[in-house]
Amino acid sequence: MALKLPIYMDHSATTPCDPRVVDAMLPFFTEVFGNAASRSHKFGWEAEEAVENARKQAAAIIGADPKEIIWTSGATESNNLAIKGAACMYAKAEPGQRNRGHIITAALEHKAVLDPCKRLEREGFDVTFLEPGPDGIITADMVRQAFRDDTILVTIMWANNEIATINEVPEIGALCHEKGVIFHTDATQWVGKMPTDVKADNIDLLSWSGHKIYGPKGVGALYVRRRNPRVRLQAVQDGGGHERGMRSGTLNVTGIVGFGKACEICLAEMEAERDRLLKLRQKLENELSSRMEMVVINGHRDRRLPHVTNISFGFVEGESLIMGINEIACSSGSACTSASLEPSYVLKALGVNDELAHSSLRLSLGRWTTEEEIDFAVEQITRTVEHLRSMSPLWDLYKEGVDISKIQWQAH
Ligand code: PMP
Repeated sequence: MALKLPIYMDHSATTPCDPRVVDAMLPFFTEVFGNAASRSHKFGWEAEEAVENARKQAAAIIGADPKEIIWTSGATESNNLAIKGAACMYAKAEPGQRNRGHIITAALEHKAVLDPCKRLEREGFDVTFLEPGPDGIITADMVRQAFRDDTILVTIMWANNEIATINEVPEIGALCHEKGVIFHTDATQWVGKMPTDVKADNIDLLSWSGHKIYGPKGVGALYVRRRNPRVRLQAVQDGGGHERGMRSGTLNVTGIVGFGKACEICLAEMEAERDRLLKLRQKLENELSSRMEMVVINGHRDRRLPHVTNISFGFVEGESLIMGINEIACSSGSACTSASLEPSYVLKALGVNDELAHSSLRLSLGRWTTEEEIDFAVEQITRTVEHLRSMSPLWDLYKEGVDISKIQWQAH
């Protein structure tokens, strides 16, 4: 089959909706359009039934009870509700005071965790931002060392969105339970791809999102543990008291139906999908590293999600690389903030130097990625990197055996 260009290798950013998800959603736009909170007629009852069915599907993929699922607008909102809601509920002092409690998180979390934590810092909480080692993993030991008597909440992501590394989540959860501290994990990149059991994995609060699992955008869920311990949250959004008072607002029935269907499909197909994508990623990485020198895979080599690679190319300028591979939709290690190109804070936290961070690509494969697309990506990346190196004086020096780091640059 002819390749359709550009090819999509940015599934960590978002996934297309599975057509089976769209089919499940369609009747809920026009036929079953009731408000799930309408208790007095069939339209409302049907909508409510669909929402409760989706709640079961969502609970099943993480091993929870349906009563433990709260619908939200996505992982950003789930994280905000979990972190702010738990911090305020378990605070050791009233708003406006200092020393309200200690929170542990990590420097390479998504902004949807870092920013709520920073806001809480301004509001009287103390926050520790753990730094990973060069492999990017946050271990239970790092968390153990950061614990204080006044620690009230730990929030550590399951898999990182840039480098796909997998933190020691079940072990961190066990530690938190031992200390009687609430444990939240942002599992947006994990759920739907990897087996999840909130009970066995010792998780109290877990966030995930529809649009990373072949479901619709703008719908997410938060798992809130009901037993051992029963976790309570202070609402962030007030209103009609939906979702047992934790998240007011008329439910997005259509989106929720899609979310549930997406969870059901992921659960059924997870194992086969994982194996297939791991093979494709291995092919991608092996071919790039065997065809070229100075190809660096960022983050731990084994503790990684199977469908993602974050890979840097030495002696290549980042912007030119992205321009050269314009038929591959992927993410780069540079974040455009206002006028400047900043290297990714995640790669920086790993100790990756600015040049290598700028020349890094995050290639994330998905349900419809084919072997032909991998071949195409290998060809286009190799051609671009070789072309850019052929114009680089530093590359020439490197090939002559000069140690670039020892060169004394002089301005005349
Ligand atoms: N956390 C992580 C780890 C993510 O990758 C993302 C999406 N990039 C989010 C949170 C935010 O999710 P949403 O888009 O559903 O708000």
